[in-house]
Amino acid sequence: MNSAFLLKYAEIALKGKNRHIFEETLVKQIEYALEPVDGEFVVTRPQGRIFVEPTGDCDEEEVIEALSHVFGITAICPVCLTKDEGFDALAEEIIAYVDREYPDKHFTFKVESRRARKNYPIESMQLSAMLGERLLAAFPEMKVDVHHPEVLLRVEIRDRINYYSREIPGPGGMPVGTNGRAMLLLSGGIDSPVAGYMIAKRGVTIDATYFHAPPYTSERAKQKVVDLAKIVSKYAGPIRLHVVNFTDIQLAIYELCPHDELTIIMRRYMMRIAEHFAKEDGDLGLITGESIGQVASQTMQSLACTNDVCTLPVYRPCIGMDKQEIVTISEKIDTYETSILPYEDCCTIFVAKHPVTKPRVDIIRKSEEKLADKIDALMEEALRSTETIICKPE
Ligand code: ATP
Ligand code: MG
Repeated sequence: MNSAFLLKYAEIALKGKNRHIFEETLVKQIEYALEPVDGEFVVTRPQGRIFVEPTGDCDEEEVIEALSHVFGITAICPVCLTKDEGFDALAEEIIAYVDREYPDKHFTFKVESRRARKNYPIESMQLSAMLGERLLAAFPEMKVDVHHPEVLLRVEIRDRINYYSREIPGPGGMPVGTNGRAMLLLSGGIDSPVAGYMIAKRGVTIDATYFHAPPYTSERAKQKVVDLAKIVSKYAGPIRLHVVNFTDIQLAIYELCPHDELTIIMRRYMMRIAEHFAKEDGDLGLITGESIGQVASQTMQSLACTNDVCTLPVYRPCIGMDKQEIVTISEKIDTYETSILPYEDCCTIFVAKHPVTKPRVDIIRKSEEKLADKIDALMEEALRSTETIICKPE
């Protein structure tokens, strides 16, 4: 008997060539997730199933924790894999398994068998009944409940036989790498890491851009963003993070544009620069953590003004969520504690006391004309001095 992990994935909408790409990408992401885990693992892919088999010792909980970050997996089941040596040998093994896993035998159970290999001599229903009987004989405290069993023991007959009773939910979604790539505008806040996670969950590879404003924002504020990218990269794979030096552009906007429009104009320059790197990286869209009405720069009018400068689609997965809903996800994905660290953010330094809440695109465009003499050189310098960091889990 070997311990292994059976991984389930949703096969829905997987037809023809897509299925192949989905499964191959999923295996690659599983291998990536297992890299930092102690031990060696072999990932195999018999029809409709993925098995992760350790070649030696491993910490089961550590493996489960790593696999719970792999999008595309719907369930993680620690299984026992065994050779077919006849019914009696199988029944004995399963009795020993139940004894080991459930020291207290006062529970209801059901055996569910699947005969994927049709030349196995006992058919599924009969096999379940026979195993159930053997278990009842061994442990009279156990009771059968076919409708709502407390323990569902699954037995699958393939070339080898596997059996298991524990099923841990996976993160769902699609394997990263199956749906192109997109550029995340990643700040140190709560919302944008969540936005990146949500788009990665749909199989999209993530690049990121952060706007840094030294000396107004500190090294620690930048480190916080790098740390957030590392956490998101547990799910999304390595993230290429562009750190843009935004200070001179912000100072020019501050000096030359109406103060109540600062945030909107600044956001438009962020989008332009993020789009520049997006095109360089082969990204098919931009991602932000915006949510309608959350702040002045996220009213419908403000969003329209920000969007006005983008030629790529802008994905805003938090758009209809309340703050608390976003916080709940950030806690689940473990970015929350880092996001709430109190370092300053480039937007909070140059904010106006009374920002416009209903900016008009034509007026904003006019205000930006005041930057005409300077902005090309400043943009060029910002792009030139950008630092790129590859962020991976530690
Ligand atoms: P977050 O929690 O993501 O910081 P927020 O509620 O603070 O969002 P804003 O500061 O208005 O909202 O920013 C809206 C979005 O613009 C962010 O979700 C992020 O995608 C992007 N953004 C804001 N500031 C920066 C920055 N310094 N660098 C990169 N992207 C930024
Ligand atoms: Mg913010």
